[in-house]
Amino acid sequence: MLIAWDFKPWRLVDYRLDTEQRDGDNERYDYWIIILRPDGLDMDQAAHSRDVHLRGRVSKVMPGDPITGNFDRLHEHYGLCVHCGELLPCRDRMAEQQALLQTEYMARYETPGVCPECLEPVTDRQDRETFPNIYVPLGPDVTFHAGRKKCRQAMEQYRGKAGQPDSRLKLDGGRSLTG
Ligand SMILES: [Zn+2]
Ligand SMILES: [Zn+2]
Repeated sequence: MLIAWDFKPWRLVDYRLDTEQRDGDNERYDYWIIILRPDGLDMDQAAHSRDVHLRGRVSKVMPGDPITGNFDRLHEHYGLCVHCGELLPCRDRMAEQQALLQTEYMARYETPGVCPECLEPVTDRQDRETFPNIYVPLGPDVTFHAGRKKCRQAMEQYRGKAGQPDSRLKLDGGRSLTG
């Protein structure tokens, strides 16, 4: 069986229950020693490669297979990055995607008067609340639709992150949403 671990492919050699207690063990778990060997090495490399012994845990209440409980299984035809040799998506690729997501996320908070949740303008007639921008440095104030369910949920999350207690809310149009 092939297993993905630490962005590399491994072949499962063996696994057994670890009966030895160690510091920090939680009595609600059974601990397993799992032995993995690097996959995809030729004979020469294999002679110098070392198996790794990993310790995984499985809940006693909801026992499961220690392999699937701790690792991702790998298809025999796995893909490696031609640049760094790691399993795809490799760490570089993931960092890239993360940065892209971050940029897209910030873009939601860059247009004044546009609700970051639904990306539609907030009109004067709509219930709304405005907050300081916590995502874009020196960015415009952020206005949410307070009357749309989904926007309202996002707004409450934002309120929490912005650290604004209810009493200090800046309400638009002098209307109180609760009263
Ligand atoms: Zn790579
Ligand atoms: Zn909205």
